[in-house]
Amino acid sequence: MPESRKTQERLDPRKPLVFDTREVGRRPGSAKRLRRPVPVPEDLALDLVRVPAGTTLDLEVMLESVLEGVLVSTTAEVPIEGECGRCLEPFQDFVDVEIQELYAYPDSETDDTTDEDEVSRLQGDFLDLEPALRDAVVLALPTNPLCRDDCPGLCPDCGVHWDDLPPEHSHDVADPRWAALQALNDPNRESRS
Ligand SMILES: [Zn+2]
Ligand SMILES: [Zn+2]
Repeated sequence: MPESRKTQERLDPRKPLVFDTREVGRRPGSAKRLRRPVPVPEDLALDLVRVPAGTTLDLEVMLESVLEGVLVSTTAEVPIEGECGRCLEPFQDFVDVEIQELYAYPDSETDDTTDEDEVSRLQGDFLDLEPALRDAVVLALPTNPLCRDDCPGLCPDCGVHWDDLPPEHSHDVADPRWAALQALNDPNRESRS
C-alpha cells in the first residue's frame, strides 16, 4: 500500500490538511463550507514541472454529511513552474485541480465492502485531505509542459530557438539521404557528433 494511503496511524488534528468533521455532524444533508490556507504538499513534481516549494493554497472546502460518510469537495488553482518540453525555457503557469472525495464512516457498509485504496476513511471524527490533494495535483501536472501552446521549439541542427531564427533559416541540406552518405564518408565524423 502506498505510504500516502496508509491511514492506520492516528491523524494529527493540527496538520493543515486534517479536517474535523464534528463541525458538520452526521445528519445526512448537513454541510459546512470553510476556507483555509494550506501549504501545498511537498515533492509534487514530474520531470519537467513542479509545484514551487512553499506554495500556499487558499482552499475553500465543502464538507457534506452523506449516508456513508463525509463528502469533501474543493477546487484549487495551483501554481506550477517548469521547463518547456520543446525549447527548455523556464515557464510558470497554473493548473486547476478539482477534488471530490468520500471519507467513509468506520463500520459503515462502505467500510465493510471496499478497500481503503478505493474509498478513503474517516478516522474517528477526522479526515486527511492530503493524499487526495496530492493525487489530484500530480494528475493535473502536464507530462509534456510547454512554455506556450504554439512553442516552435529549437532547430534540430543548431539548437537555436525558432523564434530567434529568420523564417528562411536552414542548414542547406538539399537531400537528407545524400547528407547521411557524406557523414559516413567524413573522416572527422567522430569529433563532429
Ligand atoms: Zn518552449
Ligand atoms: Zn538551425
